[in-house]
Amino acid sequence: MSSSIPSQSTPVEPQTKIALESKVIAITGANRGIGLGVAECCLINGAAKIYSIDIGETGDEFQALSTRFPNQVFAVQADVTQETSISAAVDKIVEEAGALHGMVMNAGRTNHKAALDFTTEEIEALFSVNLFGAFYTARCAARAFIKLGIKGAIVFTASMASYRPNKRVPSTPYGASKAGIRNMTHTLAMEWAQYGIRVNSVSPGLVNTAMTYWVPQQPDWEQQLKYYGGFPRLAEVQELGGAYVYLLSDAASYTTSIDIPVNGVIGI
Ligand code: NAD
Repeated sequence: MSSSIPSQSTPVEPQTKIALESKVIAITGANRGIGLGVAECCLINGAAKIYSIDIGETGDEFQALSTRFPNQVFAVQADVTQETSISAAVDKIVEEAGALHGMVMNAGRTNHKAALDFTTEEIEALFSVNLFGAFYTARCAARAFIKLGIKGAIVFTASMASYRPNKRVPSTPYGASKAGIRNMTHTLAMEWAQYGIRVNSVSPGLVNTAMTYWVPQQPDWEQQLKYYGGFPRLAEVQELGGAYVYLLSDAASYTTSIDIPVNGVIGI
């Protein structure tokens, strides 16, 4: 056995401060919701530039963030389900910013119905964005990191649904797509450690975004959440950000292949 340690395995300068100074971070699905909350937390913690890669239009909240952080927040339109689209977006970011240090695979969609009621198209649409799109994006980011010689960080948005179904509103394809994300996290972390690339995930519980519009529409929903234990409320998007910032930062230089659950509602 050789005693020499491959250069890719040498650590970045060890950091004890959790910060993203001078880092360029791309986040899919950051025009709104959790992605936008993560973008805000990254900027507050020193990120140089944030790029949202999103299929949709930017809205007022996104504009407000770019006004608050002038010349630091950008939007690139792309569809994560098309690898050529996401690859072009990554190329554009690298060309514009001259670097890429972190990629968050966060774009996602959901659909709640009984397993027997899903159409084939609905199942394919869910897997296409949540699992295949995340895989394509991670590969494009890894290729860019390797080309740039940057020991980049990859963070997936999984879900507590990857651990167990929500008893009241299960979604078989959603849960399976997110469980796939956590599995992929471990495999990619193993494959890409040789390049110094770290791969981790965050699993949110119930977060106050467009995706959970249906929760407050349930009768007695706060009582229902109390029944599960923990905090009887949804998380605000900014409450997720710390987990992402840590995993994206050099303070996590020895952290790979893990999931951080951020779930105040214990039983869901
Ligand atoms: P959201 O619907 O508010 O935002 C999703 C974003 O993804 C949107 O901006 C949308 O335009 C974008 N998007 C969708 N399809 C895309 C595509 N094909 N290409 C590029 N962008 C696309 O949802 P959110 O609640 O912010 O969810 C973000 C992530 O967090 C998702 O992966 C979701 O599964 C996950 N999640 C959410 C919750 C929650 O309670 N909200 C809980 C656990 C996990």
